Amino acid sequence: MKIIDLITKDTLSLSFEVFPPKTETSLESVKNATEEIAKLKPSFMSVTYGAGGGTSKYTLDIAKNIKELYGVPTLAHLTCVSSTKETVRQKIDEIKAAGIQNVMALRGDIPETLRNDDRSKWDFRYAIDLIRELKEADADFCIGCACYPEVHPESENQKDDIKRLHEKVDAGCDFIATQMFFDNNLLYNFLYKIREVGITVPVIPGIMPITNANQVERAIKLSGSFMPQRFKSLVDKFGSDPDAMKQAGIAYATDQIIDLYANNITNVHVYSMNKPDVAKKIQMNLSDILGK
Ligand code: FAD
Repeated sequence: MKIIDLITKDTLSLSFEVFPPKTETSLESVKNATEEIAKLKPSFMSVTYGAGGGTSKYTLDIAKNIKELYGVPTLAHLTCVSSTKETVRQKIDEIKAAGIQNVMALRGDIPETLRNDDRSKWDFRYAIDLIRELKEADADFCIGCACYPEVHPESENQKDDIKRLHEKVDAGCDFIATQMFFDNNLLYNFLYKIREVGITVPVIPGIMPITNANQVERAIKLSGSFMPQRFKSLVDKFGSDPDAMKQAGIAYATDQIIDLYANNITNVHVYSMNKPDVAKKIQMNLSDILGK
């Protein structure tokens, strides 16, 4: 099932993200977490490609399981930076052979070791190169791309960043998924700006429930996201009490989702980070709204 056909409903639905393990030893526990999350029957589940500490090796395996064992539509992430055309084409063939219809086309972060490389020699410099490759493949993929309500760290300004996003959509992206944010107003401003320039495809906001104080620093480092005072106060108050912090972080994320839905956004993607308990609690908090 294509994501584009799943997210255009009137009622709220949630999707969840998992990331593959670093080593084979933790593969089983990731698969178990995936199963628990899949049992919540989200609208879809995404599997990252080497992000969040995981490796790309198991992405397809896990994505295939989600679809085949639990009947949940999957979105397989794929990055292209520093890859050759040959490797990327092989990956695309594997995704197609696995029967996965939804692909999140990403550039990926540039590895430290390649920062001074001559990038003009790379087969893939930007996500748009991968989108073009996916469009050329003999497959009818539903393609997603990333966006940054607070501007990608490498962009000079938001205008340029949105221009690049527009190019990705014109190259064939069916939907856009956002970087995490902790202040919904940032998303609303961003949506206004992209709609104004004529980007009309659906945008799926990504919400990261922060469940422990250490995660705050990591999340900011990873995303450069702005932390509103309301959120900082919550970390100050509960940061040293793990259970209270978890409850407060889940309540904050729930509140963000309710506000998004109140503003007519019907699918919210939750960065549940392989934590079924967090996914379950968020879903439980919203049970009447979700009708589950
Ligand atoms: P691009 O769209 O290529 O943009 C990167 C930068 O280049 C931006 O500043 C953009 O404005 C600029 N740019 C784009 N096109 C051009 C052009 N033609 N000319 C000049 N400048 C241009 N990383 C992973 O490794 N694995 C994952 O699974 C993963 N999942 C993600 C999911 C989401 C929803 C998001 C938001 C990010 C994810 N990331 C993941 C992180 C992502 O790979 C990084 O943020 C990366 O730095 C940029 O990827 P991109 O696809 O947005 O790149």
